[in-house]
Amino acid sequence: MAVSTETMQVFEPATEQVLAELPRAGAEEADEAVARAKEAFPAWRAVGPSDRGKLLRNLARVIDESLEELARLEARNVGKPISDARGEVGMVVDVFDYYAGAPERLLGDTIPVTGGVDMTFREPLGVVGLITPWNFPLPIASWKVAPALAAGNTIVLKPAELTPLTALELEKLALEAGIPEGVLNVVNGPGRIAGERMVEHPDVAKVAFTGSTAVGRRVGELASQSIKRVTLELGGKSANIVFADADLEKAASSAPLAVFGNAGQDCCARSRILVERSALEPFMEALEQAVTSIRVGDPLDESTQMGPLISADQRQKVASYVDDGAPVAFRGSAPDGPGFWFPPTVLAPVSNDDRAAREEIFGPVAAVIPFEDEGEAVRLANDTIYGLSGSIWTRDGAKALRVARALETGTISINSNTSVRVGTPFGGFKQSGVGRELGPHALDYYTELKNVFVATT
Ligand code: NAP
Repeated sequence: MAVSTETMQVFEPATEQVLAELPRAGAEEADEAVARAKEAFPAWRAVGPSDRGKLLRNLARVIDESLEELARLEARNVGKPISDARGEVGMVVDVFDYYAGAPERLLGDTIPVTGGVDMTFREPLGVVGLITPWNFPLPIASWKVAPALAAGNTIVLKPAELTPLTALELEKLALEAGIPEGVLNVVNGPGRIAGERMVEHPDVAKVAFTGSTAVGRRVGELASQSIKRVTLELGGKSANIVFADADLEKAASSAPLAVFGNAGQDCCARSRILVERSALEPFMEALEQAVTSIRVGDPLDESTQMGPLISADQRQKVASYVDDGAPVAFRGSAPDGPGFWFPPTVLAPVSNDDRAAREEIFGPVAAVIPFEDEGEAVRLANDTIYGLSGSIWTRDGAKALRVARALETGTISINSNTSVRVGTPFGGFKQSGVGRELGPHALDYYTELKNVFVATT
């Protein structure tokens, strides 16, 4: 195995201190990892479905046993509140448990044909390359690793350079769970070098990417050269639509963390809050109360609700949207340095044509956009290149369903701001992506459908 002599530092965004120093992989290490995964594939695909399921269940158990340690590592490396990090690792356990049931449920069809018997099989793809972002490092890795393993593939996983620590732990835990060496390989290196090498590698059958729309486009272009299977989970600019007949108190009190959770570094952030004009005043009063009471501070403090941004670059980018014309309605507080802090900020009123309403800010900045009626709400919500998630708040059930069907977005919640459930499909319309993760649907993207005909006459 090639081990790079180059090293890289990983930082803690709440303190700006170095958290770890690690080997930094380049193209050679990516090639080595692909070779290991290729070698491990025939034996892994031959593991019987119930045994493969048991190994995934073992992995869920060892992750659960390390939950606190993993949560602290993620909280320190990403800067996310420890209570959120615990919830996320708990979800990772659930993801492996869920897909532990999948190997025995990869069903095919028998199809009536003339002259014989026809049946279909779901076959593994081979080596799959997984590329993950820095905002939810372990959960997003699990959404890809678990279905990929369940379907019988072997893996090269490239985490974001800013946050590779929990992926490296996952590699160790997989071995501890009894998953054979070479089945899950983590390559910690820069996207432009190690990532691109994986995407271009002829022995990688599929790439599953989560990250920005700009890099997703590049990954799609490179993968097309060898007609690789590609799934892309990309950016978002989701709408939180609040009608005047909603429970305004509930909508306003849950709106802040639907944008400011993970310090706004969330692809599902409902960063455009569309409010029916007749309810604007009471909604804004309740929103201000909720935003100014968000507790921003040390990620390891149990009472913290929002931590710092991931880096100085990210803070500078986020700040550029606040100095860009749309009025600041109110802001919460944030600690002074060190740390990449940014206060939760609400811009209002914002036009849907403003930059703050069109681009993914990926920070704790929400834009409030008034609308007149249902038709305008739908038009504004859909007037974006993205289509990842969104919410509708109303007490009128028929209107809620009418609007949900009209929205061009992958995941919608009615009277709720949640987006992700282990058993349901998650993914984007338009430039928010291609394909779906989670639920049974994810397995379709880690298998090929094979048709077999047997002549009986
Ligand atoms: P990013 O800059 O696009 O990076 C994502 C991953 O791609 C990282 O591992 C990165 O590696 C790698 N990468 C960068 N350039 C590459 C290249 N040329 N070829 C192959 N890989 C490359 O995204 P991010 O800043 O980490 O994450 C934020 C973005 O992710 C936001 O846009 C957010 O909306 C999106 N996101 C989407 C979802 C979803 O499910 N739809 C979920 C979470 C996040 P290095 O960082 O090591 O260079």
